[in-house]
Amino acid sequence: MSIVIQPVRAFQDNYIWLVINNSNGQAIVIDPGEAAPVIDYLSANNLEPIGIWITHHHHDHVGGVAELQETYPMIHVVAHSEHPVDADQVIKDGSTVNAWGYTAQVWGTEGHTENHVSYILDIDGREHCFCGDTLFSGGCGRILGGNAESLYNSLSRLAELPDDALLYPAHEYTAANLRFGLTIEPNNEAMQHALADAQQKNEQHIPTLPVTVAHERVINVFLRTDEDSVIEGVEAKTELDDTRPVSVFAALRALKDNF
Ligand SMILES: [Zn+2]
Repeated sequence: MSIVIQPVRAFQDNYIWLVINNSNGQAIVIDPGEAAPVIDYLSANNLEPIGIWITHHHHDHVGGVAELQETYPMIHVVAHSEHPVDADQVIKDGSTVNAWGYTAQVWGTEGHTENHVSYILDIDGREHCFCGDTLFSGGCGRILGGNAESLYNSLSRLAELPDDALLYPAHEYTAANLRFGLTIEPNNEAMQHALADAQQKNEQHIPTLPVTVAHERVINVFLRTDEDSVIEGVEAKTELDDTRPVSVFAALRALKDNF
């Protein structure tokens, strides 16, 4: 079986990820915030969408679901009970979702919002993680309804995926995140290289995603809150009550909000 994972651009900087099975021309759509670019892509490539998987309730992740259900009545929508869509399968942390004999684990990854989930799809032994707005390359989601501790716990869980696991965030924020990261860790050479690479890809309109977990552990300041260099970088900008990773994380998130 030949599976390909392809981004469709939407709005300013969203990626709607498609999991495409080239053996049978079927596709699964992750977080369709709008329907038109998805329908255009599916039509142009003669693909039949069989499923929609939702990570969280924000409009730029669910706004296209109803139109896709009207256009493709057989489509199977997977979502949490608190997501504002008409779901065929209601999932939560610990659920599994099946696709062509492959299995995706559902993890609760709250913090950006409550009831945010990620889908970890195992394809022939490699994990592909659709993490919505929990983790971005070089950064993480804003806290919009969740809280810093739950977002910290969610990112810590994602960071424990295997080194070669691939992360598929829903936004192209990589360069801006790395510019922020370098204000905290200016001597992080991997971060410097990642920023140069992201800027070049942005100019060429090439996605900087997906990224591996091993890469993120080195270049994502929000996954590095136990590093002395990060603690020192945060302390240079703001007062920390203590240097527990979750406290460093909360301070970093607040600094990024005002960056
Ligand atoms: Zn969101």
